[in-house]
Amino acid sequence: RAKEVGRDNYAFFTERMDADIRAKLAIQAQLRGAIVRGEFEVHYQPQMCLRTGTMLGAEALLRWHNPVLGQVPPNRFIPLAEEYGLIAPIGLWVVDTVCAQIAAWQAAGLGTVKVAVNLSGSQFAHDGTVASVEQALRRHGVPAASLGLEITEGTVMGDPDKAVAALGRLKDIGVAISLDDFGTGYSSLAYLKRFPIDVLKIDKSFVDDVTSKASDAAIALSVISLAHNLNMRVIAEGVETREQVEFLAAHGCDEMQGYYFSRPLAAGAYTTLLREKRMLQL
Ligand code: C2E
Ligand code: MG
Ligand code: MG
Ligand code: MG
Repeated sequence: RAKEVGRDNYAFFTERMDADIRAKLAIQAQLRGAIVRGEFEVHYQPQMCLRTGTMLGAEALLRWHNPVLGQVPPNRFIPLAEEYGLIAPIGLWVVDTVCAQIAAWQAAGLGTVKVAVNLSGSQFAHDGTVASVEQALRRHGVPAASLGLEITEGTVMGDPDKAVAALGRLKDIGVAISLDDFGTGYSSLAYLKRFPIDVLKIDKSFVDDVTSKASDAAIALSVISLAHNLNMRVIAEGVETREQVEFLAAHGCDEMQGYYFSRPLAAGAYTTLLREKRMLQL
């Protein structure tokens, strides 16, 4: 009997593994032509300045709609794109699309919008990444200061020396560097010393219970003072409630981003916000 159950479990697990592998292969197959078929879209989530109550800019978040797979979330397909060596062209498509959008907003008289793009680790393995970013800025006539890049410790872990050099060059031309998901990695403090970082992003996992858990509050406040002592700005991500906004504001957090203010928006909806110069409710 035990043997039978064991065999069933085994069959169950291999079936599950097969299903996982099949799902991954389906994503891989669809991912290859996704750029050419125009299946990607960039959404923009407002980043708010607490001092002024206005939008400082946005984070660019990639959306993928595939006719076969439907809407696939980035946490699902970005790691696979990295695994299959497809992230470099996708990453460049995002940078190019964002630069084109910044230029369009400029041309429409809506000002120079600052947009931060997430960068994957293997993009740094490509020597051409920095040059491609510079090219995209030039091609669209966009000032480097309007582009930001969000990196994680994971992004730079693979080849830290290369990443330090690449980020240094980007920072030199005026691109702002944010350290994303801060506090969730392995060696955050060492990275702060080595990398030319302008902004620390307090990870959502510390923001969630910041008003109810003493340990999360302590971590959030420590990150705020750490950032300020290092002359960096600090932004909280995943802010969802008024209590979180008030708590973080009272403790000197500079910027915030989260569903409380706005979900990530398609370019058209973000344009409407810019047009109306609407103050998002603080
Ligand atoms: P991230 O860079 O840390 O982005 C923040 C994520 O939190 C986004 O999820 C955003 O939609 C979500 N979020 C923002 N505010 C709230 C909130 O108040 N509540 C909740 N529950 N969630 C909130 P999304 O868009 O699904 O992206 C997930 C991750 O995928 C990103 O995490 C980033 O690591 C990666 N990603 C997204 N776009 C790109 C891209 O263009 N390139 C690369 N390399 N990675 C990307
Ligand atoms: Mg990010
Ligand atoms: Mg983040
Ligand atoms: Mg995150």
